[in-house]
Amino acid sequence: MNENAMTPDLTHPDEHDVLTLSGEAGLGHAVTPGEIDVSHGTILYLEDVTVSFDGFRALNTLSLSIDAGELRCVIGPNGAGKTTMMDVITGKTRPDAGKVFLGQTIDLTRLNEPAIARAGIGRKFQKPTVFEQHPVWENLELAMKTDKRWWASLRARLDRTAQARIEDTLEVIRLESEAMRLAGELSHGQKQRLEIGMLLMQRPALLLLDEPAAGMTDDETMELAALLNRLRGSCSMMVVEHDMEFVAALAGDKGRVTVMAEGRVLAQGTLDEVKRDETVIESYLGR
Ligand code: ADP
Ligand code: MG
Repeated sequence: MNENAMTPDLTHPDEHDVLTLSGEAGLGHAVTPGEIDVSHGTILYLEDVTVSFDGFRALNTLSLSIDAGELRCVIGPNGAGKTTMMDVITGKTRPDAGKVFLGQTIDLTRLNEPAIARAGIGRKFQKPTVFEQHPVWENLELAMKTDKRWWASLRARLDRTAQARIEDTLEVIRLESEAMRLAGELSHGQKQRLEIGMLLMQRPALLLLDEPAAGMTDDETMELAALLNRLRGSCSMMVVEHDMEFVAALAGDKGRVTVMAEGRVLAQGTLDEVKRDETVIESYLGR
């Protein structure tokens, strides 16, 4: 079909053909109907997850859950199992035992990596992976195109809505003035923000970020915290990070912080609460 010959349908806003998360009408996530059931308020649920490498338990009956819309910070010493937990959630590593659910109904242990990404989980690795030879805006366009269902559903409204989404995302990641530059020319912090923008083009319901502030300057780190704070409510997030100022900027006074050690949850509470926790001081903060 010649798409150009079709009359653009101007009566429907961008969001019209994508449905919101069931039970969280206000969040505005793009998921297929019924795909993520957050009617009980939980976007991610892990119960007694165990992963062994040659008999060593990288995760040892790890149980943890994240509320829909929450921004959860996870801290803990090196080797605590934080990255392994993200590997399990994204299907890179199969747990030996335990439950891993997205919403009430999606058993992530039964899905492979691409299926988990399609189900709505985006993952940001430590090192930014952008298309260096392409302009910033084109990186966002390419990221959107990899979401086949979304792309196909745009049809005649494709150009207008794609453009609008790219512009919206450029604004969110504060790279409007860099849109025409090659991604390879960006600073490290800008590349990290671009990669988050690329993930956002896929409209994740849950975003996992593993030490996103690593290697950033103090200014870049605070700019990243501001970006993640702006994303609140548009997707749930789990952020693993060592930089305590960054964690403080994300968690605020009331946000829940999870402390992991030896493959399980050591403590959980506000940043103040976990900082005062004796077991946390012993095993992590007080070193
Ligand atoms: P963190 O991200 O909290 O620093 P990791 O999840 O990377 O911790 O690692 C947890 C433990 O599991 C570490 O002792 C690490 O050496 C071990 N580990 C992680 N991945 C593997 C693997 N593929 N094979 C063997 N051991 C691993
Ligand atoms: Mg790690």
